Amino acid sequence: MKLIFATNNPHKQEEAQVILGPAFQVLTPASLGFPGDLPETHDTLRGNSIQKASAVWNLFQEDCFADDTGLEVDALDGAPGVYSARYAGSDKDPAANRRRLLKELEGLPFEKRTARFRCVVSLIQGGELHVFEGTCEGHIALQESEGVQGFGYDSIFVPEGLDVTIAEISIEEKNRLSHRGKAMRLLQCHLLQNPGSSSSI
Ligand code: IMP
Repeated sequence: MKLIFATNNPHKQEEAQVILGPAFQVLTPASLGFPGDLPETHDTLRGNSIQKASAVWNLFQEDCFADDTGLEVDALDGAPGVYSARYAGSDKDPAANRRRLLKELEGLPFEKRTARFRCVVSLIQGGELHVFEGTCEGHIALQESEGVQGFGYDSIFVPEGLDVTIAEISIEEKNRLSHRGKAMRLLQCHLLQNPGSSSSI
C-alpha cells in the first residue's frame, strides 16, 4: 500500500517505514516532486498535524498522513510543547533548541526533569480524517549524550525504564517505545483493518 507522509524529515520517514513494514511504501512530497515547506501555523499539535496532512491531500488527492510532535517538560509548565521546533528561534536549529532546554533546566535534579514526547498522527484516507496519538514518558538528561542515533531532542531525552538517551538506542528500540511508534502502530492497525482503495501514484 502506498502512502504519502507529509514530512521533509528523512529520520521520520525512515522510522515510519520501519514501523509500517514492507506491506507499505512510505513516500514523501519531495520524492513526488514537491520539495517545499508544509504549513504549520496552528497552536496545537492536533491542528498542525491535520494542517500538514490536509495540505498534502490537496496537492495529490492521495491517501496521506502527517505527524506533529512536541516535547512537554513539567518543570516548564509543558513548554516547549507545540513550539518545540522553534524553541531557540525561527531557524529551527535542533542543537540550539537542546542547548536552550538544558540551560532552562540548569541546576534541577534528574528526578524533577520529567517530560514527555507527544505525537499526533493525522491520516486522510479517501478524503476522511482519522487521528491517532502516542506519548513517551521520560526525563530530560543532565547533559547531552554522545549517541548519534535519532534526531531533534533525542540526545537529551531518557525514556522511562532506560538509563540512556534515545540517541543511544537503535531505531527498532526507539520505535518500540516512542511516541511516534505508538501513534503509528495505531495508524497501521487502522490501515490493515480498512485498506481503502488502491493508489494511482
Ligand atoms: P515536528 O513534529 O517535526 O514539528 O517536530 C517538533 C520538534 O520536535 C522538532 O524540533 C523536532 O526535531 C522534535 N522532534 C520531533 N520528533 C522527535 C523525536 O522523535 N525525537 C526527538 N525530537 C523530535
